[in-house]
Amino acid sequence: MALMTGEEYIQSLKKMKTKVYLMGELVENFIDHPMIRPSINSVAATYDMAHEEEHQNVMTAISNITGERVNRFCHLHQSTEDLKNKVKMQRLLGQKTASCFQRCVGMDAFNSIFSTTFEIDEKYGTVYHERFKRYMKFVQENDLTVDGAMTDPKGDRGLAPHQQADLDLYLRVVERREDGIVVRGAKAHQTGAVNSHEHLIMPTIAMGENDKDFAISFSIPSDAPGILMIYGRQSCDMRKMEDGSMDEGNPKFGGQEALVVFNDVFIPNERIYLNGEYDFAGVLVERFAGYHRQSYGGCKVGVGDALIGAAALIAEYNGVPKASHIKDKLIEMTHLNETLYACGLACSTEGVPTKAGNYQIDLLLANICKQNVTRFPYEIARLAEDIAGGLMVTMPSDIDFKHPVIGEYCKKYFAGDSKVPVENRQKVLRFIENLTLGASAVGYRTESMHGAGSPQAQRIMISRQGNIEGKKQLVKDITGIK
Ligand code: SF4
Ligand code: FE
Repeated sequence: MALMTGEEYIQSLKKMKTKVYLMGELVENFIDHPMIRPSINSVAATYDMAHEEEHQNVMTAISNITGERVNRFCHLHQSTEDLKNKVKMQRLLGQKTASCFQRCVGMDAFNSIFSTTFEIDEKYGTVYHERFKRYMKFVQENDLTVDGAMTDPKGDRGLAPHQQADLDLYLRVVERREDGIVVRGAKAHQTGAVNSHEHLIMPTIAMGENDKDFAISFSIPSDAPGILMIYGRQSCDMRKMEDGSMDEGNPKFGGQEALVVFNDVFIPNERIYLNGEYDFAGVLVERFAGYHRQSYGGCKVGVGDALIGAAALIAEYNGVPKASHIKDKLIEMTHLNETLYACGLACSTEGVPTKAGNYQIDLLLANICKQNVTRFPYEIARLAEDIAGGLMVTMPSDIDFKHPVIGEYCKKYFAGDSKVPVENRQKVLRFIENLTLGASAVGYRTESMHGAGSPQAQRIMISRQGNIEGKKQLVKDITGIK
């Protein structure tokens, strides 16, 4: 099925036997679990919107592999136009869901593994690239959601993988067989792991010769024997259990992260794309990180649009839309948000073809993009809280607003502009709370810091790519210093 609908996606998840634990329980039916379902709705939006005529250009593309129209989340970028459309698609989905829609990690993994396997084969005469192309055909034809999984638990950060007291702290090969390998370890903070049909594994750092068993890339169905997932908690996640309550903040959508454990999982040869060629681990990490740092110039901007909209709305409901300092704060929020978008577009516009033929972003500009993302959403959130006022964190529960005795006091004393129903104020304040302090703050705030690599990781890349020597030379040339 080249283009699934959201409903077909949900049905396809129902057929899977994904093993997920949430708060100590093995979840029988994760699809309908109220704490998980909002994150599934967000992924479903990536399917539904691909069917909307007005969004076809950004949500879909013609595959270079099948020649068919595919969801852009399964596409290998064929031009700088594709790279830009990727960012536009992410902004659009951020606007529509105000959450993390999870499917980008797979798209970013596809594009980095596609180009890296070509270069590994060129150097070592391996057959990874053809294998990966077959995998991409399978992904595109079935319109799959794939968790591009990079982050290992990492244990002692001062030690290489092979030096860890517990070697499983980096996912590794524990057995080599004629027909494949057996792997053990885990991937942490996996966005959309439970909602993915497949997992596509990559190494997490550059590696040396002693780390050969950790230099591994492969794909595997998410419900393969030996895989289990442990669902990550989010701030205020229990509010999702209060069905229909305004206190949920975002009534329909959400994000998801999980720890994915691999207990001696067998990977057949056909599914392996890197196996011991440790000198390519760093290349793969750099490319995936680059693509995902570009991604944040789209998704976080879209969510930022929703937060700016909420700040403007609450100013209106509070009766101060014309106050000059409010207008100025909205201008500042817009300035910061559009700067992130400009970075996302810039690294795309400056993209280049890889040896394998797909397009890659400009790595320096993608790292600049993400470095800004580690800061600007925090300032946008601060300004939104400033405009919202303290009621955002002191408001009684929705139950109190509906209570036969105290409800009238809540409605009376929390009214703003008398022309606006109090529940509108309630809704928007909870929405801002959700994005800045609640469940969606995972995606908008802390993920802006640590997702796609923590700030220092970008600074290392910026120092490598910033060409300070070239800049010194400019001055020498102008001033005549030999
Ligand atoms: Fe996509 Fe953004 Fe979520 Fe990453 S954080 S998966 S780029 S929506
Ligand atoms: Fe992310």
